[in-house]
Amino acid sequence: MSAHQSLGMLKDRLKASDKMPVVFLGHGSPMNAIEDNDYARSWRKLGRALPRPQAILVVSAHWMTQGTTLVDVSAFPRTIHDFYGFPDELYMESYPAEGAPDLAREVVSLLASHHAEGDDTWGLDHGAWTVLKYLYPNADVPVFQLSIDMTAGLAHQLEIGQAIAELRHRGVLILGSGNVVHNLHTMRFGARPYDWATEFDTRFASLLEDRNMAALADPQTFGTLLRQAHPSVDHYLPALTIAGAADSADQLVFMNDTIDIASVSMRSFVFY
Ligand code: ZN
Repeated sequence: MSAHQSLGMLKDRLKASDKMPVVFLGHGSPMNAIEDNDYARSWRKLGRALPRPQAILVVSAHWMTQGTTLVDVSAFPRTIHDFYGFPDELYMESYPAEGAPDLAREVVSLLASHHAEGDDTWGLDHGAWTVLKYLYPNADVPVFQLSIDMTAGLAHQLEIGQAIAELRHRGVLILGSGNVVHNLHTMRFGARPYDWATEFDTRFASLLEDRNMAALADPQTFGTLLRQAHPSVDHYLPALTIAGAADSADQLVFMNDTIDIASVSMRSFVFY
């Protein structure tokens, strides 16, 4: 099956599997939460295609920790409006899903060798709720977040993904939220993508199709392109977590393979 096959055609296959898919979404601007645009529509459509999970574990680019991997064990994660200078309407948004404290504590144990700890102070940042509101608009599936350790390197995120992959067999949807290319210093509204942005994005997709996850997590693979595409790797790490949670039996489908504002890739993918 082609990786470019439309999601609509996948609906029955996704629902038939007893193993949950893993999903990475390029989230882009917080404004996607209140704009009826192509991204919003694609996320809504994906939500209708996905099986209904028992719980959702979100790895967002916006929960960065230093030297630890935190797991939100709160019963009612708060909605965090972690952005500045946006319209009031965006600050009124909330995503009132419950947490999954028991499962979250199990994840702390699963990741014991990765400096994992429980945390009840975070909640749902905009990397999580701006897409969840389209995937599961009723907020009726328990959700909890996992942080990214900014000190641990790319390969560590792949290992985190491998360590949590077993949750797929327990009805847990593992959702990564970031961007495959994310350089806000160089963004230009209405401009064509930079060549380096397109090159990084294309090479990423090609390596993912080849299941060459080790190369994706090796900074040498991209050379100087990595610093251009990711001055900071926060938006890249969740993609590696999802790559790590994929297995050799999975099929791959891409979504939203476009580059916005010249240097933010919206490329998204599902392994199922
Ligand atoms: Zn972001």
